[in-house]
Amino acid sequence: MRRQCHAFTLIELLVVIAIVAILAGMLMPALNTVREAARQSTCANSTRQLLLANLSYANDWEGFGVPAWGWDAAGADILNLSWTRNQAFLDQMEITAWDKCKSVICPNSNAAIIKWYTLNRSTGINMAQYWGTCGAWGTPNTIVQIQLSRVKSPGMTFMFADAVDLVLNWGNRDSYQNESILTPNGMVAYRHRQQLVLGYWDGHVAPMARATFKALDYWDRAWQAY
Ligand SMILES: [Zn+2]
Repeated sequence: MRRQCHAFTLIELLVVIAIVAILAGMLMPALNTVREAARQSTCANSTRQLLLANLSYANDWEGFGVPAWGWDAAGADILNLSWTRNQAFLDQMEITAWDKCKSVICPNSNAAIIKWYTLNRSTGINMAQYWGTCGAWGTPNTIVQIQLSRVKSPGMTFMFADAVDLVLNWGNRDSYQNESILTPNGMVAYRHRQQLVLGYWDGHVAPMARATFKALDYWDRAWQAY
């Protein structure tokens, strides 16, 4: 006896495709959330590595963190002193050269830009003390980072943050719009669902919402280490 062969009609196929599309549509936001959580976690781990490297660097350099950057008597940048290119600092993370920093770059930073600028367009160092209490050490024109023993509240003052510049100043807390810009001048970057990842002097890492960070006063502990 011959069984009747059932073939799907076009309508049935379309209905199946529509159901699959609806299910996929329902899953996508959940998947995006999970993926973004993973990216933020990667960023936090990278920031933690930078913190530990700087604490370790300070241990080797009489308690001083890595210089944010340096310049000579003529005012020219000494790039190999700046923290993103300072080999003594990079050595702490076993990074062989300033342009090989892929392991500590925020996964949400602009890949096309970090290909050229590496850490300079991924993470910034807190420069609130730059114009004031942070004195020179080493060569007269080297800008020093913070001295660990002088930090008043290590658990409340951030050292590193998501940024599009290697140094951060208080005046540019909300200037970041587009990572393709080439003159970011101290801008932070809210890369993780309107939050930035902050790394503090005691070694802990925590995200902060854009609104909270923007509302910080210049003299807030988060900015002022001394
Ligand atoms: Zn990040």
